[in-house]
Amino acid sequence: MRTVYVNGEYLPEDQARVSIFDRGFLMADGVYEVTSVLGGKLIDFAGHSRRLARSLGELDMANPVTMDALLEIHRQLVTLNEIDEGLVYLQITRGAPGDRDFVFPDPASTPSTIVLFTQAKPGLAGDTAAKKGIKVISIEDIRWGRRDIKTVQLLYPSMGKMMAKKAGADDAWLTEDGFITEGTSNNAYIVKDGKIITRALSTDILHGITRAAVLRFAKEAQMEVIERSFTIDEAKTADEAFITSASSFVMPVVEIDGMPLGDGKAGPLALRLREIYLDESRKMAV
Ligand code: PMP
Repeated sequence: MRTVYVNGEYLPEDQARVSIFDRGFLMADGVYEVTSVLGGKLIDFAGHSRRLARSLGELDMANPVTMDALLEIHRQLVTLNEIDEGLVYLQITRGAPGDRDFVFPDPASTPSTIVLFTQAKPGLAGDTAAKKGIKVISIEDIRWGRRDIKTVQLLYPSMGKMMAKKAGADDAWLTEDGFITEGTSNNAYIVKDGKIITRALSTDILHGITRAAVLRFAKEAQMEVIERSFTIDEAKTADEAFITSASSFVMPVVEIDGMPLGDGKAGPLALRLREIYLDESRKMAV
C-alpha cells in the first residue's frame, strides 16, 4: 500500500483524511503541481516549486511549507514508495473552515491543506508511445481567464479528454478565436520549415515548466523558436507538431482532427527534442 503525505503526516493511503468542508473539495479552491520522477530522482523540482509559490501568491493562499521541506517530502515519498519512474502529485488548498462560505477564511484560523502522493509509471520515459505519437482533436477553449494559475479546476480539461477519446483520438487542443491556446494538460507546438512555433506566455495558458526547459534546450541546440499564436488551420499544414508536459516530456502529435501531419509519423525534430530533454533533465535531477 502507498504511503501518502497529509498535513505533516506520512500515512498509509487508506488512513489519509481530508475534511468534507475543505475548499478544494467544495470550490476547487486549490492549486497543484506534478513533478516527474526518473531513476528515482525529481525532474525540474526547482521550476515546479517556483510555479507553486506563484500560483499560491496569485490566489492569496498561504504556503504551509518551505521549499526545502517540500523537497524533503517529495524525496521521502519517492523512497518510501520505491518510485523509479513515475510522478509526485502535490495539492494545496485554502483549507477547511467550519462552514461553506464564498468569502476566504482567515488563514490564521484556517490553515491550508497539503496533500502529496506518488504514482508509479514504469516505462514513463520509454520511447514506444513517443515513436507512435498521439492524435488530437480541436475543441473550443471555454476555461476561465487565469489559466496561468495551476488550479485544480480540471473539469473542462477532463471533458476535453473524454471528447477526444470518443472521437478515437488521444487528446484535445483548445482553440480560442481560431488560435490554439494549449492542450488539455500540456503546451502545444508546431514545426514549419525547421522553426518551432508555440504560443507566447500570458494569462491564456499555463506556463509549462517543461515548455521553459524545452525552449531553452532548443535554442542551445541552435533551433529557431518563435513564440506567437498559431491557428488550427496553420497547425494542420505544419511539418510536425508536438506537446510538452511534466509527465509526457516531449510527445509528437501525428494527427489533428483526423488529418495526418506530413507523412503521419512522429516528427524527427520532436523526437530529437525529446531525447535532448530527457538527457539534460536526468543530469539535473535531484
Ligand atoms: N498546460 C496545461 C493546461 C497543463 O495542465 C499542463 C500540465 N499540468 C501543462 C500545460 C504543462 O505544464 P508542465 O510542463 O509544467 O507539466
